[in-house]
Amino acid sequence: MKKLFKCTVCGYIHEGMQAPEVCPKCNLGKEKFVELTSEEAEKIYSSDRTNDIHSEIIVLANKIAKLAQEGIEINLDPKCVNGFEKAKNEAWTIKQRCKAELAGHMTNGKW
Ligand SMILES: [Zn+2]
Repeated sequence: MKKLFKCTVCGYIHEGMQAPEVCPKCNLGKEKFVELTSEEAEKIYSSDRTNDIHSEIIVLANKIAKLAQEGIEINLDPKCVNGFEKAKNEAWTIKQRCKAELAGHMTNGKW
């Protein structure tokens, strides 16, 4: 059964039977890795997909903001511009909410 090992220097998580010879992120040796407990590993596995979803939503929110900005610049009429301004603000809220949630996950070892 695969285990998770964490680099104590940079936080990189390795999945495998043993720690890697060299950390792919900070290039230090396997002696810098510690094996995670099953509870710690469970947090990482259970949050893996939701972290990806938050990341994807952030990308989509950026697309909405960019589209809304284009609409604002076209400046067809005040109602239209107002709708795009709202969309741009809402995209910001969506993005920042996801970022805050991700930050909370990182702090709690869910990453
Ligand atoms: Zn490292």
